Order: sequence, then structure tokens, then C-alpha cells
Amino acid sequence: MQRTLSILKPDATSRNIIGKVNDHIENAGLKIIAQKMIRLTPENAGEFYAEHKGKPFFPNIVEKMTAGPVVVQVLEAPDAIAAYRKIMGATNPAVADEGTIRKTFALSIDQNTVHGSDSPESAKREINFFFNEIEIVG
Ligand code: ATP
Ligand code: MG
Repeated sequence: MQRTLSILKPDATSRNIIGKVNDHIENAGLKIIAQKMIRLTPENAGEFYAEHKGKPFFPNIVEKMTAGPVVVQVLEAPDAIAAYRKIMGATNPAVADEGTIRKTFALSIDQNTVHGSDSPESAKREINFFFNEIEIVG
């Protein structure tokens, strides 16, 4: 079994579509084994997206990720990281495949509804960023 870190971004929580996004996740066979709603500070968001520090869109990501609450989740499946990236769809919803979460719900490239880890190393870092072991039911 593999785990990945998912975030339902402020554009999702503000539009009341947490359940709809979770339906996509569960229908794809990904199991939600941890979940909580939190509010990120600019420091949290900047540290989480540290790989993008210095890029022109970095201040905007921090602004969008702190615009409202987020739901952070740990998802589990045999190939969770790739399986979730597949149903999320492309970063830019304008070019995302039909039926993906971003094609269905995202507003724009910077309000693209969900985050998913992109490698086993980032999944480990990102899960540890948000969760203690006792918060993950497995
Ligand atoms: P995420 O890390 O949120 O799952 P991703 O892995 O598909 O998204 P990244 O390249 O890691 O894409 O970019 C992180 C986030 O930064 C994207 O989700 C998007 O909101 C924003 N972003 C990326 N590229 C751009 C861009 N060219 N213009 C504006 N925002 C961007
Ligand atoms: Mg990414």
C-alpha cells in the first residue's frame, strides 16, 4: 500500500464542494485514512510550497492557499500517488482531461481545487508536515 497527501484548496472549501471532491477520490478506489480542516498561515504555505520559492507565481500561491480553510488528507491505495495525480488532472484546468477533478471543478491554474504529492519523497515530507502517526487510522 502507498500513501499520498491531498489538499482540498480554499477554492474548494469556499464553494462547498468538499463532499463532491471526496466522491471523486473514493470512486477512484483511494481510501481517505486521515482528514482535517485547518487554516494555513503564509509561513505554513510558503514552507509547504518551498520548491516554488523564487518563481514569479510564488506570492500568489501563498495568497490563494491562505484565502480560507483547507482540508488536508492522507489517501491510501496500491499506487496512491500516481492514481491521485491521474484523477486530479493537469495543473492548468484548461488542458485537464475530461472527468478529472480539476477539469470538473477548478476555476483557474491558481485556484485548481486540489493538491497531490508528486513523488514518494514528497508524499512522506508532506504527510509528516500535517499529520502525527496517531491521526492516521491506516
Ligand atoms: P500542486 O503541487 O498544487 O498539486 P501541481 O503539482 O500540479 O500542483 P506545481 O508545478 O507543483 O503543480 O505548482 C504548484 C501550484 O502552483 C499549482 O497547483 C498552481 O496552483 C500554481 N502554479 C503552478 N504553475 C503556475 C503558473 N504558471 N502560474 C500560476 N500558478 C501556477
Ligand atoms: Mg506540485
